[in-house]
Amino acid sequence: MTLRCECRECKARLQQSEQALGLCADHHLLAADYHLYDALREQGYMPFQAKLMAGLADPPDPDDD
Ligand SMILES: [Zn+2]
Repeated sequence: MTLRCECRECKARLQQSEQALGLCADHHLLAADYHLYDALREQGYMPFQAKLMAGLADPPDPDDD
């Protein structure tokens, strides 16, 4: 198991109890999304593509110039 010292979403410094999850208290609800993201990355998807598929990034907005 990888321990992280920073939140994967906001880079906040993590408490010891949060390090296994890799997410701070504000973002622990994203754990399932990041789990999917990791699985997609292992399958060879590029980071941004994996984030889109995991719901961690918004697709480019065609109305946004
Ligand atoms: Zn966070």
